[in-house]
Amino acid sequence: MRSNPTNYQLVAPDSLQAVLSLLAAEPDGWLPIAGGTDVMVQYAAGKLPAQRLVSIWNLPELRHIEVLADEIRIGAGCTYTDLREHDLVQREFSLLARAAAWTGGIANQNRGTLGGNIVNASPAADSLPALLAYEAELILVSVRGERRVSYKDFHTGYKKTKLASDELIRTVCLARRFSGYLAYARKVGARNAQAVSKVCIAALGRRPGGVVEDVRIALGSVAPVPLRLAETERVATGKPIDPLLLVLARETAIAEIQPIDDIRSTANYRAEVVGNLVAEFLEKLGADEYHT
Ligand SMILES: Cc1cc2nc3c(=O)[nH]c(=O)nc-3n(C[C@H](O)[C@H](O)[C@H](O)COP(=O)(O)OP(=O)(O)OC[C@H]3O[C@@H](n4cnc5c(N)ncnc54)[C@H](O)[C@@H]3O)c2cc1C
Repeated sequence: MRSNPTNYQLVAPDSLQAVLSLLAAEPDGWLPIAGGTDVMVQYAAGKLPAQRLVSIWNLPELRHIEVLADEIRIGAGCTYTDLREHDLVQREFSLLARAAAWTGGIANQNRGTLGGNIVNASPAADSLPALLAYEAELILVSVRGERRVSYKDFHTGYKKTKLASDELIRTVCLARRFSGYLAYARKVGARNAQAVSKVCIAALGRRPGGVVEDVRIALGSVAPVPLRLAETERVATGKPIDPLLLVLARETAIAEIQPIDDIRSTANYRAEVVGNLVAEFLEKLGADEYHT
């Protein structure tokens, strides 16, 4: 059913506090809208969960990147363009910079925000595997104050999150401790741009002394939520990278995922691709030119 624009209301307060007060007064009555690239699709489909929209687009409190000695704090209102153009994000968090660069097209990157990608909670979202690999933490904010939560526990099921209805994501925090890691990211889709991922991967690892250490493998589009491959990471840890490990890692990864058939792909194809990507990541980690 198409939406009738006269039934909708949009307000744009000029401070985070004013937005939070609105949400607190009527938690399920208002839907925050940041870049609107997911919300407007829901609107056009007549599927918005609320008829009153409160804009958080370009709020200064949400649109800044703070670089501290031990972590980087990315405002949830930062766009993909903000991320892919930021020097330190490019240098130290290349998984996120690359995901930002292949999300949608340029217009989408100028509008779509990291916070929107997290809360929209699509299993195919491109930036979310990077957040899992970096073990991101989120600062959530409401009139009740702030709380800091692990991103890995944020998605509780398909399109379900731990966010309370009076809360916003304020900040995404990433620890600055990944220099010397191999960073590996791939998006497998129908095209290089403007395609929803059939599978996407973000992985990090080190190989000091010739054995795998602190390896992190995260995937999108293979389960109801973005998934970290805990068992595959476990079987690889402490081992040299040889043909035996590649076979074991490939089989373990395929056993860990829960892919489905949908309009973009089949479960079998996704499983095959996951095996190939995990093997390619480990091969790169094992290559002679990579050492810390
Ligand atoms: C043409 C097109 C191409 C796309 N391509 C891709 C792609 O390649 N990869 C991909 O991952 N996505 C893609 N998307 C989806 C979309 O652009 C992203 O998910 C984007 O990050 C959403 O951000 P937004 O600011 O536009 O969110 P909005 O649409 O404004 O909001 C999305 C949801 O998040 C909530 N929200 C937003 N910010 C916050 C916050 N700070 N705190 C709490 N709740 C919040 C809103 O209430 C809403 O429920 C595409 C969309 C379009 C239209």
